[in-house]
Amino acid sequence: RAYNFSAGPSALPLEVLEKAQKELVNFRGTGMSIMEMSHRGATFENIHNEAISRMRKLFSIPDQYEVLFLQGGASLQFSMIPMNLLKEGQQAGYIMTGSWSEKAFKEAKLFGEPYQIATTKENKYRNIPTFEDIQFNSEDAYIHLTSNNTIYGTQWHSFPDTGEIPLIVDMSSDIMSKPIDVSKFGMIYAGAQKNLGPSGVTVVIVRKDLLEKANTEIPTMLKYSTHAENNSLYNTPPTFGIYMLGEVLNWIEEKGGLEAIAKHNEEKAKVIYDTIDNSNGFYVGHATTESRSLMNITFRVTDEELEKQFLTEVKEAGFVGLNGHRSVGGCRASTYNAVPFEACKALSDFMIEFQRKHS
Ligand code: PLP
Repeated sequence: RAYNFSAGPSALPLEVLEKAQKELVNFRGTGMSIMEMSHRGATFENIHNEAISRMRKLFSIPDQYEVLFLQGGASLQFSMIPMNLLKEGQQAGYIMTGSWSEKAFKEAKLFGEPYQIATTKENKYRNIPTFEDIQFNSEDAYIHLTSNNTIYGTQWHSFPDTGEIPLIVDMSSDIMSKPIDVSKFGMIYAGAQKNLGPSGVTVVIVRKDLLEKANTEIPTMLKYSTHAENNSLYNTPPTFGIYMLGEVLNWIEEKGGLEAIAKHNEEKAKVIYDTIDNSNGFYVGHATTESRSLMNITFRVTDEELEKQFLTEVKEAGFVGLNGHRSVGGCRASTYNAVPFEACKALSDFMIEFQRKHS
């Protein structure tokens, strides 16, 4: 298997892929693939409901939240959130920490009066704003932020207290990488393709009272309540993706749950950040130390010519996906849940050896 550091879609647990391979053609004695079965039949419904209950259990999701499996990616959520939860003329505060926050903000402008609470753009999105910078209006419909900035490699390590105002968080690139207190959020959403499974499923965890107050004059498929009332089976769901998501959750459980996953993620990121920090400036991190992401490690080889060589050689050595996002350049190692420690250690060894050869 390749050492896969891709930003998304990204590595899946090998055990899950092997199990899916074994079950692909004849699913548990049914003589059919899971992809060939009705989403209204008992076999798929069990898989669907089990995936929801596993997610509730692992993430300790309180009963007053709906867990929805939608389509359209996190990108459709950028529109669905204001379409459902922002009334005409109403304000919502957006905290800007990178390109994904910018995209979410752009969509909200089509529905209400979003405003920017704080931005770190002037610092090339190297850091997360401090809590003192986060001043919002008590009338806001919600506050939106991106918990992990996949492109810039920054992450919120604690969240602002927004009191009565619902905090809505795009957790696409760090959902279920560690335990969090779900009750602090109005809504959490994430495309599945980084920590939870293949692309095609979008997870939405939303407090039920927000749905009761939501706008009603919107298309049926874009209403959260449609999916909540139909257990996410209003139309044909991405059945194979939901099956895989359930298996990934099972794998997380077998690994010891989110505490164990978080510890593993810390160890993986540390071995690479330590390599950067101990390189005497040969490598330099993009994010400020306090804002560093444990999921996406962004860095440069200080010498631009050597950086090109690094990216060529690292690829030849069997490492995949280390080019930085096209909008920022440089290098990025994405170390999501399914990336093993061994891959991170191998990358660290490669970086040390590359530096030795070129200094
Ligand atoms: N938000 C974040 C933080 C992301 O990293 C991504 C994708 O990389 C998206 C949103 C967009 O997700 P999707 O491609 O599922 O629409």
